[in-house]
Amino acid sequence: MVAQVVILLGPPGAGKGTQARRLSADLGVPHVATGDMFRANVEEGTELGRRAQEFMNTGRLVPDDLVTEMLFVRVDGVDCGDGFVLDGFPRTVGQADTLDRGMDGRWTSSVASLEVPDEALVERASGRLLCREDGNHIHHAIFSPPVTEGVCDQCGGALYRRDDDVPEVVAERLRVYREQTAPVIEHYAQNGRLLPVDGNQSPDDVHRALRETLGSSTVEGGK
Ligand SMILES: [Zn+2]
Repeated sequence: MVAQVVILLGPPGAGKGTQARRLSADLGVPHVATGDMFRANVEEGTELGRRAQEFMNTGRLVPDDLVTEMLFVRVDGVDCGDGFVLDGFPRTVGQADTLDRGMDGRWTSSVASLEVPDEALVERASGRLLCREDGNHIHHAIFSPPVTEGVCDQCGGALYRRDDDVPEVVAERLRVYREQTAPVIEHYAQNGRLLPVDGNQSPDDVHRALRETLGSSTVEGGK
């Protein structure tokens, strides 16, 4: 059986990280998040990390081929042999093409896209409360307010809002995302591989919908 890769697409704030972590736990395969991969390479001072750092230091975007190389080094690891859940990649059609070629024969992929309207994303982000002690303890002023104002329910840490979680900045972040990834979505839609999932519901419902959608996708969907 060819190992299965789940490519999870979705705008910032759609809950992609949370869903990717849950899927990876369900499927018993690693969660490969490009953000984590970057940080790990830079921290460990790998050759690829040093090259990426040079671009970041000068405020330039890390080029596609460098990001892709880093990804393939990561997924060549023995833990990815049975598949993985990919989060934060591909961001461009060039990356999507390279990914298709690189996976050929070794893995097949399913591409799930979390769909959430911009208004909902702005509302979600602008009420978000983060915990100073643990980045995974997230509350929301409207949807999941803490029992005591300003205090994390899980650990008692102080809650705060990120400076860039204001509506104007979130809207701009989304505009950039849509502009950049619309062609990627189109790329997968055109070859019939895109599986849209309603991301505008509770995390549990999104998780259920994702499992259903992925479960019914055919293995041949990979190429
Ligand atoms: Zn906390």
